[in-house]
Parts: sequence; C-alpha cells; structure tokens
Amino acid sequence: MEDIRKDIITQVLSEPLPLKDSYGALSMPVYSNAAFEFDTAEEMEDAFLGKSGMHTYSRISNPTVEYFENRIKNISGAEHVLAVSSGMAAISNVFMGIAWSGANIVTSPHLFGNTFSLLLFTLKAFGVEARFCNLLDKQEVERCIDEKTCAVFAEIITNPHLEVVDLKVLSQLAHEKNVPLVVDSTIVPWPVFKASRFGIDLEVVSSTKYLSGGATSIGGLILDYQTFDWKHSPRLKQLAETAGKKAFQVKLRSEISRNTGSYMAPHTAHLQNLGLETLLLRYQKAASSCLQLAEFLQTVPEITDVNYTGLSGNPFYAISKKQFGSYPGAMLTFSLKDRQTCFAFINRLKVIRRATNLFDNKSLIIHPLSTIYGTLSPEYKKMVEVPDNMLRLSVGLEDLEDLKADIMQAI
Ligand SMILES: *Cc1c(COP(=O)(O)O)cnc(C)c1O
Repeated sequence: MEDIRKDIITQVLSEPLPLKDSYGALSMPVYSNAAFEFDTAEEMEDAFLGKSGMHTYSRISNPTVEYFENRIKNISGAEHVLAVSSGMAAISNVFMGIAWSGANIVTSPHLFGNTFSLLLFTLKAFGVEARFCNLLDKQEVERCIDEKTCAVFAEIITNPHLEVVDLKVLSQLAHEKNVPLVVDSTIVPWPVFKASRFGIDLEVVSSTKYLSGGATSIGGLILDYQTFDWKHSPRLKQLAETAGKKAFQVKLRSEISRNTGSYMAPHTAHLQNLGLETLLLRYQKAASSCLQLAEFLQTVPEITDVNYTGLSGNPFYAISKKQFGSYPGAMLTFSLKDRQTCFAFINRLKVIRRATNLFDNKSLIIHPLSTIYGTLSPEYKKMVEVPDNMLRLSVGLEDLEDLKADIMQAI
C-alpha cells in the first residue's frame, strides 16, 4: 500500500455544487427531467444558441450530468469532457466526429471485443477502414499511416492480451504525420494514469468499470485535451478555422452527441458521481490485491502464463511502470491446460463470480474466447489471437486470502 501512494498523481476532489440547493443537499441532486422551462422567448433563444449556458433538454445537457463532467474535467486535466451512455458510445461518437468516408483508423487487432467489431464491421459500412497493425512496431505504424488516416487508436493496456505501447513514441509518430492519437484508458483510472503526460489528444473511458462504483451502471466518457490542430483533419478543418482547438468539442457537443442521442442519463451520472468519491480507495485495494494475486498464481504448478504488467518478469514491466506506476490495473490473465480444464475450474469457483465486466467490487472470471470473442468467425478468431486455454480475472475487493483459497480449492 505504501508503494501505491507514491503512484497517485490525481486526487479525487469534491466539487462544490454549482448552485446552492434549495434544501441544502450536500451532493448533487438527480435532475431527472426531460425539458427546462424559460421565462421569455429571448431567454429561450439564447439557451438554444448556447449563449447563456442554460440547459434546454436532457438529451443535450443536464445539470447532474454536467456536474459529473466537471468533476472528471478537474481530475483528468482535460479541456472538455462529455459523458455518454456507454464506453462503446464514447468510442463510436469519437469516430463519428473525426472520420469520413474513405478514411482509415490505424490500430491493433488486440482490442476490446466490441471495439474490434465496431471498427471492423460497423464503420466499414460508412466507408471507414480499420487498418490493423502491430502498434508496438514503429516502422509498421509509420507505414500504415497515410493522408487518409483520421486517427491512431490504442488501448493503453490491451484487453485481454495486456500489451503496453509506449504512448509517447506513438503520439510522436502520429503527430509527425498530423494525425491525432486517441486512446481507450478504461483499464487504468486517473488516480495513477494521466493522459496529458503522454501527448494523447482524445481519451475514451468506459465509466461502467472503475468509476461506476461497483458496476452500478453503464457509462462512457470522452475527454478532449485540445492538443491537436484540427486544421490537419479533412473532416474538421473548416470548423477549425472558426473554433480552433475546440473544433472537435464543438462538433461533438453541438452535432454528434445530440444526433446520436447518446448523452448520459442523469441517474447514471448520480451513481457514477458516488463511484468517483470512492474510486481511489477501491483502486488501491483492488490493484494491490491483483499484484499480490499475480505473484501468488506464479507459484501454482497447474497455472501457466500469468500475465499482469506489474509483475517484474513481464515483458512490458518497464514501460508499464513508467506510464502507470507499480499497480497497472486490477485485471490479470492466466492459462490452464486446455479449454475443458478452464471450464471445470470456473465451475468450481465459490468466491470468484462467473461474469463479464471489469472492476466490479466482486472478483469476476471469464473464458474470453468462448464468450467475448465467441461469435467471431474462425478467421477473425485467429486474428484476435486469444488463446483457448486463457482465463481473465478481474480482481475485486474481497479479502486476498479468500481469493487465493478459492482458486486453490478449484484447481
Ligand atoms: C468495457 C470496455 C469497453 C466498452 O465499455 P461499455 O461501457 O461496456 O460500453 C471499451 N473498452 C474497454 C477497454 C472496456 O473494458
């Protein structure tokens, strides 16, 4: 625990409420309404033109959600934050805002399952190509980027392969070619990871995971650091002439998010605001248990390929430590003999739960190839390179000894 304190670079601050609540509520009330009323037509006009900052309709903005967005803004150091209905909504909104028909996205095939499917299948119908490459190979990335590349996209630690790209190198590569770097940072939250230190232009997060405070709700965030000059973007260059560095923010707020109807629900923002208040505590416990559990699993003869980038023998240990400190997330993978052994092991567990999701308060186990990647064709299954004897464990807040004992009784 001593060590993890050194890694904390962002404290979770409590923002004062934007207005004194009529009842003196200490936390932000849930404004669970669709529309907002105005005294005059003039005020209504100003609100709709975005001149007064007044809310008009909760698909577009809402005080409870805005409060949550402002807190995230302060914690992360982002210039603009938009809260949406899921991590996938965050990713799809970003690409709807920066891609165009004929554009390509340079990324790795090692991606969260739905992200892989979004880039490969969904965006393809709109003329957007997912250009998969090895993001760890500088030359290959350089070769893949061309004048039609709308973004380089990476997960900061890939799920479930747990690969770590050098973000500064990747950002430099992208920027030399006038392309923005977009990352998914779901796997390591802000108390220990700060995107602005690595030249990341846009950050997406599934707030369903650590932030929701124990898997209470589905949500996503888009963080804009306004470090990219959008006049290099064929899609946004015209807007950049008037909006400058805010071109993406304007596009996202005034067009994409409201047109896709993906704004976060007020009740979700309320739950995730609560989650945010305990994020640091929960992260400290889960991540330090994860490291200790990874070390323990390495001593179990039936278990092979224990993968957690916080282990000193891990090939990504040094870069992981540089970017995320000593506790890079609370998820690990390991292998057993074969699929059948994995299934039997899963079925015998009593403390660890059989469920998808990450960073619930409960520890969760899943066999990724038969579930998350289960519906992919054999060709695509080969492409994602998820071994059939691999299990993914998301470590929760249970007592570490109970987790060890559960694993040993199930082995
Ligand atoms: C879960 C997850 C997502 C998708 O988030 P949802 O909130 O489920 O839509 C995207 N990326 C990563 C790395 C994830 O773990």
